[in-house]
Amino acid sequence: MTKFIFITGGVVSSLGKGIIGASLGRLLRSKGFSVAIQKFDPYINVDPGTMSPFQHGEVFVTDDGAETDLDLGHYERFIDANFSQLSNVTSGSVYQTVIKKERRGDYLGATVQTIPHITNEIKSRIFKAQKQFKTDFQIIEIGGTIGDIEGLPFIESIRQFKTEVGIGNAINIHCTLLPYLPTSGELKTKPSQHSVNVLRSYGLQPEVLVCRTSKPIPRTEKEKLALFCSVPKESVIECRDMKSIYEVPLALEEQKFAEVVLKLLQTENRVSDLTSWRHLVDKIKNPKKTVKIAIAGKYTKLSDAYISVVESLKHAGYKNDAKIEIKWINSEDCNEYSRCKSLFKDVHGLVVPGGFGVRGIEGKLNAIRYARENNLPFLGLCLGMQCAVIEYARNVVGLEGANSKEFDESATYPVIDLMLEQKNVKGYGGTMRLGAYDCIVKKGSIAHKAYGAAKISERHRHRYEVNNEYIDRIRDAGLVFSGMSPDGMLAEMVEIPENDWFVASQFHPEFKSRPDKPHPLFLGLINAAVKLVKE
Ligand code: GLN
Repeated sequence: MTKFIFITGGVVSSLGKGIIGASLGRLLRSKGFSVAIQKFDPYINVDPGTMSPFQHGEVFVTDDGAETDLDLGHYERFIDANFSQLSNVTSGSVYQTVIKKERRGDYLGATVQTIPHITNEIKSRIFKAQKQFKTDFQIIEIGGTIGDIEGLPFIESIRQFKTEVGIGNAINIHCTLLPYLPTSGELKTKPSQHSVNVLRSYGLQPEVLVCRTSKPIPRTEKEKLALFCSVPKESVIECRDMKSIYEVPLALEEQKFAEVVLKLLQTENRVSDLTSWRHLVDKIKNPKKTVKIAIAGKYTKLSDAYISVVESLKHAGYKNDAKIEIKWINSEDCNEYSRCKSLFKDVHGLVVPGGFGVRGIEGKLNAIRYARENNLPFLGLCLGMQCAVIEYARNVVGLEGANSKEFDESATYPVIDLMLEQKNVKGYGGTMRLGAYDCIVKKGSIAHKAYGAAKISERHRHRYEVNNEYIDRIRDAGLVFSGMSPDGMLAEMVEIPENDWFVASQFHPEFKSRPDKPHPLFLGLINAAVKLVKE
C-alpha cells in the first residue's frame, strides 16, 4: 500500500521545499523503495505553460507532454524517475474539471462548493496518481506558503485525506526558515512556531519539521522547536545551506531523515546504498578544472529560467571533474557582430537555449556565427537550433534575410515555419508540440556517436520547425541533418562535422539529464570545451 508524504512550507517562500522533497525521494530510493511525486500549485493558471519565465522560471516538460513547475525537474533528477501529467496539479486545473462537470450536470442539482467538491477533486488527483504510479511512497509538495488564501483548499484536502487514510499512512513535513540575527548572534525559532500555529488552526499537525538555516541549530533551539511545535526532537531536521543542491540528501541522511519518516509511516527501515551518490558529491566538491560556458539568451536575469540547462551543464562537468562557470550573456549585447570577439574571448563553449519572440534574435544569430567560424563548441536548444539553421542559411547558403516566420511573417526565405498541425491552432495554453517523440539518428554522425544509438526519444516544446522546402539547399551547403522524425518529415538535429562540437536539437535534451548520467549532447559539448581549458 502506498504511503503519503505531504510537504508544506512556512515563514517565507523560496525555501527549497522541492529540493527537500526530492532529497527525501532520493533517500527512500536508496533504501530500495519506489517513489512518485506530485506538485500542487495553488495558482489559477491551468498549468505554468503560459507564464513568463521571468515570473515563474523554467517550464519543465514531462515525457507525456505536461508543462509543469520547475520543481518537477529537481524531482526527476534526484529520484531518477519520469513523472507525468498527474504529477502537476494546479488550482486552475482542479477548478476547470469541477466546472466542466457542473456544466455537464454531473452534480445533479447540488450547490457546487469548495468543500466538498473542490477538495474531493484534489483528493481524487492523489488517488489517480497512486493508481498510475503504484509506488511505495508518494511525495506531495504544496506550493506557496502556509497562510496564503489560495492554498487553503489544498491544506483542507490534506486534513481530510490524512483522517481518511488513518495514522501511519500519511504524514505532513513542514519546512520553515530559522532567521539568524547577527546582532544577538541567534537563530530565531518564533516564526517557525507561528507558522506551525497557523497550520494547526487549519487542523493539521505536522509530524516532522525541516528547518532551513545558515548556521547549525543549537540543541536548546531544537528542543524549543520540538516542545512548541509538538514533534519529537529527532523529528526536527536541520537543513543547512549547501554549496551544491546534490549535497542535501547526504546532509539529511546524517540526521536519519528517511528513518524518521519510515517510523512515522510504520514502515520497516532498510539499509541504504548511497555509494554512487557519495561518489557524485565527492566529484562535485573536488573539481580539477573550471570550464566557462556562455549562455546567450533573453531571460538571463533569472537563472531559474534555464535551470535544467544549467543543471545539465553541471552534470556533464562532474563527469569531466570540471566545475562549470556560467557567463550569462544577454543576446542583445551581441547585436553588433564585432562585439562577439570580446564577449566570447574567455569562454570555452556557447549554449543558445530555447525561447520565444523576436527580441534578441539578431544577437543570437551573431553569437552562433561566431561559434561556427571560430570553432567554439556550441550547443543549440530548440530556438537555439532554429537560430543555427537561420544563421547557416543566411551566411553560408547565401539566403539573405532568411528568418523564422515567428519573427518575420513576410520573410523572403522562411527557413523556419509553423508546423503543419500548428497552422489552425487557436489559443496558447497546452497547444504546442509537447512531450516525448522518437527521433532517428543519422548513422556515422556526431550525434550518433554521442548517443551510441540510432533511435532516441526526446522531449519537445515548440510550434515552429525547419521548413522542409529549404532542407536540400541547406544540406548541400554542408549542414548535416543528423536527426529526423521517424517519418522523415521533421528535422530534429543539425550539426557541422568540421567543427569540434557544433550540434543543435529541436528538442530539449536538458529535461533528461541526470546528475550521475549526463545527457550525451551536454557531455559532448563539455568534452569539447574542456579541451580548450588551459592547464
Ligand atoms: N519559439 C520557438 C517555437 O515555438 C522555439 C520554442 C522553444 O525554444 N522552446 O518553435
